[in-house]
Amino acid sequence: EDASAPRVTRSTCPYCGVGCGVLIESEGGRITGVRGDPGHPANFGRLCTKGSTLHLTTKPELAPQVRLLQPELRTRRDAPRNPVSWDTALDHAAQRFADLITAHGPDSVGFYISGQMLTEDYYVFNKLAKGLIGTNNVDTNSRVCMSSAVAGYKATLGADAPPCAYEDIDHAACLFFVGSNAAWSHPIAFRRIEQAKARRPEMRIVVVDPRRTETAELADLHLQLLPGTDVALFHAMLHVMVWEDLIDPAFIAAHTSGFAALRDLVRDMSPAVAANLCGLKADDIVTAARWFALGAPSGSVQARQPTLSMYCQGLNQSSSGTAKNAGLINLHLACGQIGKPGAGPFSLTGQPNAMGGREVGGMANLLSAHRDLANPEHRAEVAALWGVADVPASRGKTAIELFQAAADGEVKALWIACTNPAQSLPDQAMVRRALERAEFVVVQEVYATAATVPYGDLLLPATTWGEKEGTVTNSERRISRVRAATAAPGAARDDWAIATDFARRLEALLPARLNGRLTLFPYATPEAVWNEHRESTRGRDLDITGLSWAALERDGPQQWPYPQGASGGKARLYADGIFPTADGRARFFAQPFKPVAEPCDARYPLALTTGRLRDQWHGMTRTGSVPRLFSHAPEPSIDLHPTELARRGLRDGELVRVASRRGDLLLPARATDTVRPGQAFIAMHWGAEYLAGRNAEGVARLGVNGLTLPALDPHSFQPELKHSAVRVEAA
Ligand code: SF4
Repeated sequence: EDASAPRVTRSTCPYCGVGCGVLIESEGGRITGVRGDPGHPANFGRLCTKGSTLHLTTKPELAPQVRLLQPELRTRRDAPRNPVSWDTALDHAAQRFADLITAHGPDSVGFYISGQMLTEDYYVFNKLAKGLIGTNNVDTNSRVCMSSAVAGYKATLGADAPPCAYEDIDHAACLFFVGSNAAWSHPIAFRRIEQAKARRPEMRIVVVDPRRTETAELADLHLQLLPGTDVALFHAMLHVMVWEDLIDPAFIAAHTSGFAALRDLVRDMSPAVAANLCGLKADDIVTAARWFALGAPSGSVQARQPTLSMYCQGLNQSSSGTAKNAGLINLHLACGQIGKPGAGPFSLTGQPNAMGGREVGGMANLLSAHRDLANPEHRAEVAALWGVADVPASRGKTAIELFQAAADGEVKALWIACTNPAQSLPDQAMVRRALERAEFVVVQEVYATAATVPYGDLLLPATTWGEKEGTVTNSERRISRVRAATAAPGAARDDWAIATDFARRLEALLPARLNGRLTLFPYATPEAVWNEHRESTRGRDLDITGLSWAALERDGPQQWPYPQGASGGKARLYADGIFPTADGRARFFAQPFKPVAEPCDARYPLALTTGRLRDQWHGMTRTGSVPRLFSHAPEPSIDLHPTELARRGLRDGELVRVASRRGDLLLPARATDTVRPGQAFIAMHWGAEYLAGRNAEGVARLGVNGLTLPALDPHSFQPELKHSAVRVEAA
């Protein structure tokens, strides 16, 4: 085939968890355009602003300025980095890791990877850490994205398996959004919701969000609650459902356990009590409970209509994220609102492949194919699959713990791939201490502009969208192929291949865990990696042994489970009322409401939340190169209610100083009544490159996450990015 001839390559958008199919147009080794794939069931040909401008992020003439194109190494921190060959780079990395592991043990090293990796990349890194090195210190930016959703599903339904599908939007009588601005964060799914509402105006939409977002503009009922009070709201809704006999006692009796304890817990959480805690009207809580339970305002328990809840970071990024997720799922279980068309809890994944990463067990507390790290039989199964003697039993360090351990000198080597912790993690001062204190930092990255790059002792150039082959799984468990349309620029290589080559070198230096085998990493292609992952799912809830890359080529994207012999995937889980728990019953999760970790006080009186803009993605390394995308929001600002500005004698647009207990920033204030008095909002995308400088005390300003705090949920270890106490004053 003539590589320079015009061609169209079918692939998947690399941004959000909708996972839209794209058709990449290329000619002469250059990506010239992108269109929505009409045959992809996630988007039927539509693309949002981010997806439809993907080709503008790939200009080869920009590569020398924005891409890493050659491995670079420095052997001393005070020396410049020099270009080196891949052999030199990986030999050096393997020797440094082997020396540290030999001297300090396997837990002295850690890997921090990404929900933007492909499943095959994730698989190799996970096996490298847990199988070859023997450490569970492999965590990912999914920790700050979906780990509370994982913990919530497992605590209630027994497995990390979102039970719904996007097609449920078309069947739901009530849509219950919580902590999700889908209009901006999952735009193509939201277009489907707008169409459903236009076709069926009687469909009720409830939006629970501290801000009046574009999603809330479509709502029949907007519950503008105080940040962090979701559990109180859910408990009060259950209180109403019990009091008004709106629950489904037959479903509860046949398919669940633990309801009595939860019923006792919510007895005192009346709508009046919750209204006070949440800053809502009690009547609105009652209305939300009735709509949720019955599916429609005119419904009855005899003619219950389906309710679909859709939720995202507002529930997850919280020090009580697991309780919030489980509290919402409690409502579905109490009303039997699960396992039927249009009903169920549906977590929207922030990143394109957070699901694929969870499937391979690529986190510090997970194991391959939804196995349980604490279960000796599960560990033995994985060890047998990989051909190693064992997999370490104790939980590895999760994202924040990993960086804290590096800052404390306990973790001595960090390998960071496909993610930008020097911008995206909370408490940037701590993260940067970690990157400085670690003895050896590898940064495997696409963009030379990423904030973490300056901290790398070794830089490894990676391929990205349009250049690599593999698979991703979207929010509805649908596996799609990602395909290369052009060759890799410079010396950039695929993430799975870099990890495989490093692993083989490490095997030669640390042969003990090879168990007599030649290599644990015999892969020549990403398909070979995927085939091994597929085998690991046999008999599990996410069994995909009936699938192959050839089948994905032939039949297009498919939902799991898809076991051997199946004729298709499953749109919806738990239709039979049997859950993947020991007794087959779903479990109610009874945990009391807990306030935010850092309440506002007289010195820091404003509640700061962070979130996405419509047209930017994460740290803007990719979207920031497209001028058109800046027209939506050309500069950072802090949203404040006009009364908060007036109280401080500040004007709309005036430069203000925002300070938390960890740092401060200078940025313009924007007067808006989309936030309540007492609250503030800053978009998450602006890092230290944009919001830099030093304050009067000489302390560096480190972007929006210089303000946020690392308080963790005790079950999911997800940090509370959605609430920090701040103050605002004239700059
Ligand atoms: Fe890409 Fe998400 Fe937009 Fe679809 S909705 S085009 S997956 S960013």
